[in-house]
Amino acid sequence: MTSCSHLFREITNTHNWANGLPYRTYWVKCRFCNHKCKVYVDTEKRQEVELPQSMMRKRRLDESAVRRVLLDERSYSQIAKDNGITHQAVSEIKLGKSYKYFCKDIPRKAPRSQKKCTNCEHWWKGKCGLYVPEAGGCFAADCSFYSHYGTSVIQ
Ligand SMILES: [Zn+2]
Repeated sequence: MTSCSHLFREITNTHNWANGLPYRTYWVKCRFCNHKCKVYVDTEKRQEVELPQSMMRKRRLDESAVRRVLLDERSYSQIAKDNGITHQAVSEIKLGKSYKYFCKDIPRKAPRSQKKCTNCEHWWKGKCGLYVPEAGGCFAADCSFYSHYGTSVIQ
């Protein structure tokens, strides 16, 4: 478990989540056995909550950081380095796979409606992996095999 069974806990540090969520992180220390742990408190419900790992990972940036990433035209690895996130995270933000509710005024790189062969998961090394003869560019809109790259992972 994340804490010992004692009740003599003392809060050593707190952190408010930047993006307007009602959560607060408390670092607590047991005054009895010195056990240290981190707990998440929902300040609206006024109780400790367990947050799923995915949420922890994905909610790390606030809206202004997401905006900065979206408007940054440099290479993904540069952006990743400057923002302390992974290359993969930059790609997910740019493609609208994560943080899609932030900065809705900024269009994402490949909206799901944009059918292009290069956005298709069958496109491989500059060619159509299914050898559709007409493949290329906007033919995707008429292609019955079109499958938007990454669609399967979007919930
Ligand atoms: Zn304890």
